Amino acid sequence: MAYVRLAETGENLAVGKIVAVGANYKAHIIEMGHDMPEAPMIFLKPATSIIHEGEPIVFPTTGELMHHEVELGLVIGETCKGVPVGEASGMVHAYCLALDMTLRDVQLAAMKTGWPWDTAKGFDGACPLSDALPVTDATALSDLELGLEVNGELRQKSNTNDLLWGPAEIVAMLSEHFTLERGDIVLTGTPSGVGPVERGDEIRAWLGDELSMKFRVA
Ligand code: MG
Repeated sequence: MAYVRLAETGENLAVGKIVAVGANYKAHIIEMGHDMPEAPMIFLKPATSIIHEGEPIVFPTTGELMHHEVELGLVIGETCKGVPVGEASGMVHAYCLALDMTLRDVQLAAMKTGWPWDTAKGFDGACPLSDALPVTDATALSDLELGLEVNGELRQKSNTNDLLWGPAEIVAMLSEHFTLERGDIVLTGTPSGVGPVERGDEIRAWLGDELSMKFRVA
């Protein structure tokens, strides 16, 4: 069963789906060579892509260029559809640190043909997750530093206050398309600095003062 662990209670919450947005930090859009979007791009990752600390990110056999993307993850607390922006924050039960591991060679090839890029983003191990912390009234999801280093070298560093669309806007937008259910994970996009990892690398990522995680690429 794919799950996210709630740090407060130790409960493993079943994850049905991972809904992600891309193109949500200006500097990353520029580094990818895209035009500024009018809305974030939306895609899904299967729940089977989730792994937890202690498990390796196994380099897939289906691509040759795997990139790291550090992201703020949101854990949906209740089933919802068509949520207004003003009520969307209430649907977010917890937050976590997530990596949107991406086979960039597969993704760029898909972009050229115009075909879906699911296989670039959905392979087993493509969604390493930390434990999730509860969202309270005091949680400032829109002002969290996040960063990632590979073998001790800083690759990504930003703050969620640089998100073009914030957590509430994202949840509202996604819920127009899909019924969101308790346990679903929302990935909010990555800042600039994405880059390749190799077998043997150690990835360390952090979010705010309270969340960090390490994964080895195998
Ligand atoms: Mg991403």
